[in-house]
Amino acid sequence: MSHVDLEALRARVDEINVEILQLINERAGVVQEIGRVKEKQGVNRYDPLRERHMLDHLKENNSGPLPQSTVEHIFKEIFKTALELQVDDQKKALLVSRKKKSEDTVVEINGEKIGTGTPSFVFGPCAVESYTQVAEVAAAIQSKGLKLIRGGAYKPRTSPYDFQGLGLEGLKILKQISQEYGLAVVSEIVTPSHLDEALDYVDVVQVGARNMQNFELLKAVGSINKPVLLKRGIAATLDEFIHAAEYIMSQGNDQIILCERGIRTYERATRNTLDISAVPILKQETHLPVFVDVTHSTGRRDILLPAAKAAIAIGADGVMAEVHPDPAVALSDAAQQMNLQQFDEFYNSLQKFMKTHEVHA
Ligand code: PEP
Ligand code: MN
Repeated sequence: MSHVDLEALRARVDEINVEILQLINERAGVVQEIGRVKEKQGVNRYDPLRERHMLDHLKENNSGPLPQSTVEHIFKEIFKTALELQVDDQKKALLVSRKKKSEDTVVEINGEKIGTGTPSFVFGPCAVESYTQVAEVAAAIQSKGLKLIRGGAYKPRTSPYDFQGLGLEGLKILKQISQEYGLAVVSEIVTPSHLDEALDYVDVVQVGARNMQNFELLKAVGSINKPVLLKRGIAATLDEFIHAAEYIMSQGNDQIILCERGIRTYERATRNTLDISAVPILKQETHLPVFVDVTHSTGRRDILLPAAKAAIAIGADGVMAEVHPDPAVALSDAAQQMNLQQFDEFYNSLQKFMKTHEVHA
């Protein structure tokens, strides 16, 4: 074959490549159009029967030299690309996503605006154990000029024989503390059946890590008129976390705070592995405020402070940590709660850190 022939053939291949490319793109455009029609009709986008039909049709029309299996393989990839474009479209449409709403969502609780760049703090015991136990912590929180307190009345525990929380009695204690100390209450609700009653006592409903994919609970808190603090599941990907928030927002409640609390990995030096990179990713992908729970992620009192600094430095809207007047006798999470003096030191060091780094811009 002469040099000139080879050049001509290569030129023809280049032309064909471009033609194929144009056709694949044109095809993707038509598939997107179909996606929009289907969405209007509420029909599922992926239709395996239709795909089978298209492949059969192609094979019937294949006169070679490509073998049937190659035709099927190539076109399966082409189908997939167009379908992925549709999925992207769908992602763009998530209510919690930045693509849907570019401004930060600000959740206002007890006069505190969460999600404005100034970190908020949620401190309090793991579980509500008694009035005096919560009151001691509340006094310490109040003296720092803070506005929020946490405490579990319903505790999701690994063992059914462990302390399960005081239930309604715990909520009543929190309400009384809230009134006496001017603090808004963040408390976990574990089932939709407790929700109605709980709304009289709590200001922010916490959905715990173990319930991040309790879809009925997510839908239920999506219909209330109070902020929801949604914790990341123990083994949840960020995509699953974002979709859990979408469950809430899809019901009309847009007051959502996301909370990274560590995920389970093979590492045993910490209780969970704090996925610090989740913070900027969630801030980028969604318009919601993002907190970091340094207690349940690390499970270690000795590294609460550096973990909290990291959270603030990386752009978290708030930090959660557990405080107990006497952690050694706490009915849950005794190993990781701070006592009141440790709390003071922790908070003062964080304040200093924030000043040095001009976080309070
Ligand atoms: C809690 O914050 O009280 C708690 C149980 O945390 P998590 O759901 O993240 O384990
Ligand atoms: Mn705890």
